[in-house]
Amino acid sequence: MIKFDCLTLFPEMFDGVLNDSILKRAITNNLIEVNLHNFRDFSKAKHHNVDDTPYGGGAGMVLMCGPIYDCLHSINGFEKAHKILLTPQGVPYNQDIAKRLSKEEHIILICGHYEGFDERIRTFVDEEISIGDYILTGGEIPAMAIIDSVSRLIPGVLHNEDSAHTDSFENGLLECPQYTKPYDFMGMLVPDVLVSGNHQEIDKWREKEALKRTKLRRKDLIK
Ligand code: SAM
Repeated sequence: MIKFDCLTLFPEMFDGVLNDSILKRAITNNLIEVNLHNFRDFSKAKHHNVDDTPYGGGAGMVLMCGPIYDCLHSINGFEKAHKILLTPQGVPYNQDIAKRLSKEEHIILICGHYEGFDERIRTFVDEEISIGDYILTGGEIPAMAIIDSVSRLIPGVLHNEDSAHTDSFENGLLECPQYTKPYDFMGMLVPDVLVSGNHQEIDKWREKEALKRTKLRRKDLIK
């Protein structure tokens, strides 16, 4: 069981992701728990503002420390939880980080929005994560990507645990090509070895193809 608490100004953005398919089942089966906290509820401003103009001038609005700090401190067990700030300036996310996070019991994710957040918010967290070198409107999609990728590593979340072990990046390689029925699709045939019934040969073929594919597409993964 892993628990996620997510600080966001847009909790409804998570509806589709958490209320469907594998994550929905994982929540129903108590394998994961996801709590959403709108830090606007912690604003002390008359109009519930959570952001203000940047010191020194410039474009956009900056999230203030206060509402995020108070929201964080309202979460049960926040001191011990692993706290993550989503930011394009963080460490690039990958499967190794997902594996490491899947060993945590309690993860708190802080989603920024607008132009960014007050620099002092960085002091509230254990690490900063980016999901890639591009800018999104908010940290909600990165938070959902982390919740999804970590959850599928929790035992019992996937029906077939083996599928997680053969996924791309699991052993440092991309996954080998996959085929299903029909055998002949518009003249494109399934490789003979896969219909041979010889499992030793099939395993060898899969290993070879995974290596070939990784060399071709992601040379950087070959250590
Ligand atoms: N001005 C900020 C900068 O240049 O670093 C970007 C702000 S972005 C428009 C708003 C928020 O979306 C960020 O504070 C962060 O929480 C989230 N975000 C955007 N892109 C992200 C990424 N690639 N990875 C993680 N979080 C991201």
